[in-house]
Amino acid sequence: MFRLIQLNTHLGVPRIGVDPDGYASERAALARYRATPGSFFGVGRFDEEGTLAEIIMDTVCGPVGDCPRPATVVHARTFQRLCDTCGFGLEVLTVPELALRMGIAVRLAPVLARSGRHAAAEFAFTASNRIAREFATRVEDQAWRHELCVELARNPSSVNGLLIGVGALSHRDVLDLYPALKTLGEQIPACVHGDLLRATSRPLSPAGVAALRLGI
Ligand SMILES: [Zn+2]
Repeated sequence: MFRLIQLNTHLGVPRIGVDPDGYASERAALARYRATPGSFFGVGRFDEEGTLAEIIMDTVCGPVGDCPRPATVVHARTFQRLCDTCGFGLEVLTVPELALRMGIAVRLAPVLARSGRHAAAEFAFTASNRIAREFATRVEDQAWRHELCVELARNPSSVNGLLIGVGALSHRDVLDLYPALKTLGEQIPACVHGDLLRATSRPLSPAGVAALRLGI
């Protein structure tokens, strides 16, 4: 039996949260997991007695955005999944170290196949593409920014397009567009704003770069 799990810390002690829905296969659980990015840490395999026997850690890096590099480590205190670049300079645990800390076997999930994604993720992908494509030329347009914020609130995973669009600006663009970027940073929906604010602790990550450029 496979269930989606959350991994949090309380006073430095790891806490595992288990979703009630069970899945017959790892593949089915991962498909469900990937339809709700950001909500779970990965998939847990439970034995016949219902004991957590193994944690299958997803390879998506970071809380938001689409850092394209696969996560290989976790932050030592928050257990946020990070790739080598985003984890650079931070206190991190390797997968074997995490297993030791948890006292449970941990392994990385197979890399995501595009065709296996949920329809909602595909939709977010299209919205993301549009946001990324239009960002540099439209961000100064107040109505466009409003539309973007509505989209982000309705569909938080479209934040990927924002990260790509902001990340693609040249330094010169950032200077020229800074008033509009800063205004957008103030208008952005609270849920996305919170994720971006947390990302400023990783200034080299795509979300960290976007947050700083948006004046967050
Ligand atoms: Zn990363």
